[in-house]
This record gives sequence, C-alpha cells and structure tokens, in this order.
Amino acid sequence: MKIGILGNGQLGQMLMDSVRDLPELEISLYDTRAHSDEALDAFLASVDRVSYETENIAANIVARLENVADKVYPSLKALKTFQNRLLEKNALRDAGIATTRFCAVNSLDDLQTAISTLGLPIVLKTTTEGYDGKGQYVLRTSDDAGPAWRAIGNRELIAEAFVEFERETSVIASRDENGNIVVFPMTENVHHEGILRYSLYPAANLSADKVALAERYIRQLAYSLDYVGTITLELFETAEGLVANEVAPRVHNSGHWSIEGATTSQFRNHMLAIAGLPLGAAEPKYPAVAMLNVIGDETPAAQADTTANAFRHSYGKEARPARKLGHVTVVADSTEERDATIDQLADLIPAGVWPPKH
Ligand code: AMP
Repeated sequence: MKIGILGNGQLGQMLMDSVRDLPELEISLYDTRAHSDEALDAFLASVDRVSYETENIAANIVARLENVADKVYPSLKALKTFQNRLLEKNALRDAGIATTRFCAVNSLDDLQTAISTLGLPIVLKTTTEGYDGKGQYVLRTSDDAGPAWRAIGNRELIAEAFVEFERETSVIASRDENGNIVVFPMTENVHHEGILRYSLYPAANLSADKVALAERYIRQLAYSLDYVGTITLELFETAEGLVANEVAPRVHNSGHWSIEGATTSQFRNHMLAIAGLPLGAAEPKYPAVAMLNVIGDETPAAQADTTANAFRHSYGKEARPARKLGHVTVVADSTEERDATIDQLADLIPAGVWPPKH
C-alpha cells in the first residue's frame, strides 16, 4: 500500500521511519512548502491513502484534499475540526469532555461581551493557525480589550476563560478503522516561553482517577469522530479536575518517548491504523520515561551520547532560536533513576524549568 504524508518535517520523518521494516507499506513525504496544485494533485493520485504531519495545512491544500476525501486519514472532518479552535471546543463538548468556558469573538464589541460573560482574565486566541502560544493574548483588565483586538483581531477569535491550572498533561491514543483503540500513558508536560521542554511519565502524584478520566475522554473523543489514526488530547490539571485545552489530530511531541519507551510507538500505530493493519500495544516498556526537547542549540544534546539509557534524535535541521532541533528519550527502572538521568542532561533545559515546580 502506498501512503503519502503531507509535510516532511520531523513528524513526517518519524512516521516514515516507524514502518521501515514493513515492505508492504511504501511511504512518501510531500513538502507542502514547495506547493503547486499540479504537483499536489499528482502526489495525491499516486498514493492509496494520505495522512498529514500537522493540522496547520493551508486552505488551498485542504481544497485539493476534498477531491480525494476518502483517501484522507485521519478524516477531513477531523482535520477541519481541529484546525479551528471553536469547532474543536464544540467537538470536545459534544464528546462530553470538560473544557473551559469560551465564546466566539468577531469584533471589539464581542470582546467586551466576552469579558462580561466569562470574567477576567481571558485568553484570546486566533481560531486558526496558532501554535506554541502564537496568535494569543492574555487580557487581565478591561483596558486590555483594545490592544488585544488590535494585536490579533480583524479575524475570527475565540475567548477562553483563563484556567488556573496546576500543570499541563496530555494523553495520546491510536484507533483503527474497526474501532479498536490503544491509549498511551498520560504524561506531564512542562513548557517554557510557550514551547514544550520536557514530558514525564509517570507524572508525580497524578491520581488513578485522573488517569482513568483522561483515558475515558480520549476514547470518547476518538469514538465520537469515528477517528482513525493517532490523536492527542492536551489537558490542564486543575483543583477541580481535568479540563481539555486542545486536540492534535496527529502524533504529538509529548509522545516522542514512545519510540524507545513503548511496545509500539505513537508513530507506528498511526501508520498501522491508516494502513488498515492491526495496532500494537501502547504500553510503556519501562516504569519511567522522559522526553527532553533539544531547542535552539544542539550542543547540550551531545551529553546524551555518553549517558546511559538516553537516546538522542537529531532532526537534521539548521539551528535557530526557539527551533525544535531534536529530542532525547530517557528510559528508567524507576522515577528516581529517570530523574537522576535528567539531572545529567539538565543543560538541555533552561535554568529553573527542571525539576517541575510541584
Ligand atoms: P494552546 O496553543 O492553546 O495550547 O496554548 C498555549 C499555552 O497557553 C498552553 O499550553 C497554556 O500554557 C496556555 N493557555 C492556553 N489556553 C489557556 C487558558 N484558557 N487558560 C490558561 N492558560 C492557557
């Protein structure tokens, strides 16, 4: 079977690498930046199924996908839903998943109304194309409305009540076309300046109830969309419980540890699902794992080469500030051992960001 993937960044590469041992699958990546309608249509015609490494796909490319909708996995409906934060929040709500209160904002007047209905603070976001905190504005007083609208307005926005979260987590699952689903263990995700710096499994003091709820949520979400492929749900952990933040219809940075750390990786299960093959188990192979991102500078990652139970991945990208250049997976027999290994790799993490604050 020929499978095409839109995007040839690190996610596309890792998707391709994950099934190199399966000769029945022929994978090709399409660079969406070098786009022409003719080349894209030819690519789409040449494959049996097509997937994508990111939901941030330009509207003109989505329009070409409409012509081959039955080849697109995860479905075009899923892609369009999770491209738009308003549709995404509605889908979460429809699936019975707790979200923060939100409303659509299309004008400065709407924003004033949002402030009176949601209260302050508010996180104002563009409904499309935001990632890593881009296209967002936090309003703390009503005086912020004008500047916020001028900064990111004049397009469709969503206002969200600010969530006083204790920490950020995610849960990843893969579902096949027969509805079988495997759920990867939940991770705690620590960000700095809007960028994921590391993910930990297990998260300290995460109750079994919350783990079970997260698993139930992602099952409900995947089921409600008849989803096929790997899907990620980001959840805030709050004093009141888990609150969904956003969904990625794809493999996720917080699941990169699964290449070495799980029986079957998130990448391989995505490919197996879209190829119509049976999924592998998503269980962790170790009692504790971590994923550390290599951001902006690869020099500190060299330490991983001489660190036991650390696995370095380089994406072969040119260094640039704030750019994801690679990641390091840590596997361990206990959380103490994992944390001691992360201590050795701490140059990868900005000062004060490791260990987690709670
Ligand atoms: P997002 O692109 O929606 O994942 O937002 C990026 C980051 O902004 C999240 O990882 C949170 O740290 C923060 N954030 C987003 N939405 C909210 C919210 N409603 N309340 C508080 N913090 C938020």
